[in-house]
Amino acid sequence: MNNKSRSFESDRQVSGNEILKAESDGLRSSIALELKDDSPTFSNDAAQILKFHGVYTQDDRDKRSTLRKNGSELAHMCMVRAAIPGGRLTPEQYLALDELASDLAGESLRITTRQGIQFHFVSKGDLKPVIKAVNDALLTTYAGCGDVVRNVTACTAPRSDGLDLQMAEIADQISARYKPASSAYFEIWSDGDRIEQAEADPIYGTTYLPRKFKIGIATTDDNCVDLMSHDLGVVLDPARVGQVGIVVGGGLGKGHADPGSLARLAEPLCTVRTEHLLQTIDIVLSIQRDYGDRSDRSRARLKYLIESHGIEWFRREAEARSNVPFMEFDSVKFSDSPSHLGLNLSAPSRPYYGLKLPSGRIKDTSQVALRTALRGVVHDFRPLISLTAKEDLVLFGLELEQLEKLRQRLDSDGVQLSESLSPLTRDSFACPALPTCGLALAESERILPTLTKEIDHELKLHALSDSEISLRMTGCPNGCARPYLAEIGIVGRSKRSYDVYLGANRKGTRLGTLYAADVAFDILRESLAGPLRLYSETRLSGEGFGDFCHRIGVQELTKRYAPAPRRTRKTEPSKSGQS
Ligand code: SF4
Repeated sequence: MNNKSRSFESDRQVSGNEILKAESDGLRSSIALELKDDSPTFSNDAAQILKFHGVYTQDDRDKRSTLRKNGSELAHMCMVRAAIPGGRLTPEQYLALDELASDLAGESLRITTRQGIQFHFVSKGDLKPVIKAVNDALLTTYAGCGDVVRNVTACTAPRSDGLDLQMAEIADQISARYKPASSAYFEIWSDGDRIEQAEADPIYGTTYLPRKFKIGIATTDDNCVDLMSHDLGVVLDPARVGQVGIVVGGGLGKGHADPGSLARLAEPLCTVRTEHLLQTIDIVLSIQRDYGDRSDRSRARLKYLIESHGIEWFRREAEARSNVPFMEFDSVKFSDSPSHLGLNLSAPSRPYYGLKLPSGRIKDTSQVALRTALRGVVHDFRPLISLTAKEDLVLFGLELEQLEKLRQRLDSDGVQLSESLSPLTRDSFACPALPTCGLALAESERILPTLTKEIDHELKLHALSDSEISLRMTGCPNGCARPYLAEIGIVGRSKRSYDVYLGANRKGTRLGTLYAADVAFDILRESLAGPLRLYSETRLSGEGFGDFCHRIGVQELTKRYAPAPRRTRKTEPSKSGQS
């Protein structure tokens, strides 16, 4: 890829992160040195570069205020993220990651909304063995975070037409091509030798991308990865073999106190022959690398470049850099966004079982030994595993009879099977938020079960218990669990209050609209009673809750039913997020 990175002189004042990247000696910074010192955490400069290695520095937020009050050191820890293209794991890889969680990472694994796995509560001293164990399982944490192409999402649940295999292959190709070229990762974590290389990365230059860059792949009949929320999306149409559509400029993160920030859906860019896909991604990345805002990180995602310059400008710029023919791509239509839960026989020779996980968390609790049960079935039945972008697990690669036995075993081990859960619980998930995420303003994962129970009660009152309604919750407006694409989106605003979004559709092609701001957790259920009652009484045949809210108008629903906002409360200062 032709590197046309602009110099700092030609930019407005660049942000501090740009200078850190440029001076990081190819993503090395002082990480290796600091790993040897006695401090329980890293310097801020090293912590910024650590993100490229898949590591966030954090502290236990549950303990923060007490420790501060006592004048003690914070409870420092790290989050380590394994990037797993398309979320596919062999049973051996799963068992290796599970063992790692036992030994060094807080006894839990956390599936992310981008089909990776996060380990929380890793001490600085355990970072090297944790990353080495991930590498030994033939996986990597490199580019799990940082201003580069992040983990590539794609639904890899089995399909009768085999497109899951094609998507998995494309995800692998994209993932391999856009890992940083620097050997820093192998030097630091595997004590490898330094390989002398050109100073500038051949794809990213010396300052990498202005911000993270998310790529996803979906088919027109299955948008479970929420493709339109990606910086770049690849659309496969089963009826158009040999071609792929490209969409660009999606991204959901925004700020409560930043009116110019926006959640945005991607727009169609072009259609290209499948063999030209990587060249086309090169071009899109090069435009973002060269023109993305490097002065203000809150405006540095591709979505802001396209929002300010327009998709026509972007297409012209892409065509000017391209030597492959672009064909038209008028509009993106998805027919479904399935959850992939329960026993699925749509590809009769490739059955699978989708297991609902509580917001992607795999751990043993006093109620159920979920991690132990999963370890047991993976060890004994040896299924292949696909992590979904809705934080669940798909188990496949077995004969139907074996799959049935696996399912029965989970049941007898006390694991709640997907089919025994309410539709709302099946279609809900949350981001981690407290106590690990430094950006969290409110609880999310830990409080979601209480919220779904409450809303399930409300649904029952309106004879809606069997209705399929999607619910997502996050601890801040960064939107890691994509709440603006759920029919009910709950976004943390302060310690005990949330904004409520309604009106998104189930296919992931329309964003929700703010219905009620700053609603106390205790009245979230009550705040939804009016819209749910109206939905129950006046919905059209087959109309989903999101479509209903959109048809009536979210503003109208706000006028009729939304509680008045509470007085805005002061929020706790943050350390480091994990978005
Ligand atoms: S950054 Fe915000 S949305 Fe993401 S995990 Fe943290 S609290 Fe949740």
